[in-house]
Amino acid sequence: MSYFRELSEAAQFRTRAVDRDSFAEAALDSWVLTLEDLGAGAVCDCRDSCNTACHEGCSFCCHMRVVATVPEVLAIANEIRLHWDRREISTLTDRIEILNSKSHGQSDEEWGIRRYRCPLLVDGICSVYNTRPLDCRAYNSQSVSACRDAWKSYLEWDVPVNQHVLAIYKNLQAGVLNGLVSMGRSSRLVELTAALNIALKVEQVVEKWRDGEPIFEEAEIDPLDPEQLAFTDIEGSKVEWVPSDSFRD
Ligand code: SF4
Repeated sequence: MSYFRELSEAAQFRTRAVDRDSFAEAALDSWVLTLEDLGAGAVCDCRDSCNTACHEGCSFCCHMRVVATVPEVLAIANEIRLHWDRREISTLTDRIEILNSKSHGQSDEEWGIRRYRCPLLVDGICSVYNTRPLDCRAYNSQSVSACRDAWKSYLEWDVPVNQHVLAIYKNLQAGVLNGLVSMGRSSRLVELTAALNIALKVEQVVEKWRDGEPIFEEAEIDPLDPEQLAFTDIEGSKVEWVPSDSFRD
């Protein structure tokens, strides 16, 4: 079994373990931590070749569309509910609603051209850094100036990324999707802002989703979107990330 396949299988196993705990809120917290451990350990193994230019306060990449799995969105919403005060949550939900009314259903290109800022970016820093989606962890750059150029002119996006780090997190995301498929759930990705708009508004969202209500349907990206197509369905029910797809094709 390849290294990436092993990572994917580990993420699938952990996702299924959360389901056994009925997706209770505490289970979501520890689920995110185990994924982070898996990713950080794998990145550590390749640190000599990483050479990332990413640093705190640099947020050009936070003006691109983010796709995620539903449990990742639930974990972020859970953290916000538990650790933010009422005023902060209210300000955030206003930001999310305004952005979602403009960006809903837009493609990666449309999002990047318009430079929509992630609603979770506060004073240039990710406000949910420890719970940020796997997509955000997958993004890595070896050139800040290339990120700046991409921010200015998204259609000419040409950012050098460490493909190994990218593959680590996309394979973890594939593992989560496989975990969901094995529970009889959808393997569709959701757009982060639209999904948070739902997750922070709907009462008992974890329970409703766990019980099979299709509450995140509106936030799902198009099945023909390149980011969804990057996760191929093999052997009838197994999802695998195709490395030929990058953040941009
Ligand atoms: S979740 Fe955090 S890291 Fe990801 S785009 Fe938003 S602010 Fe940036």
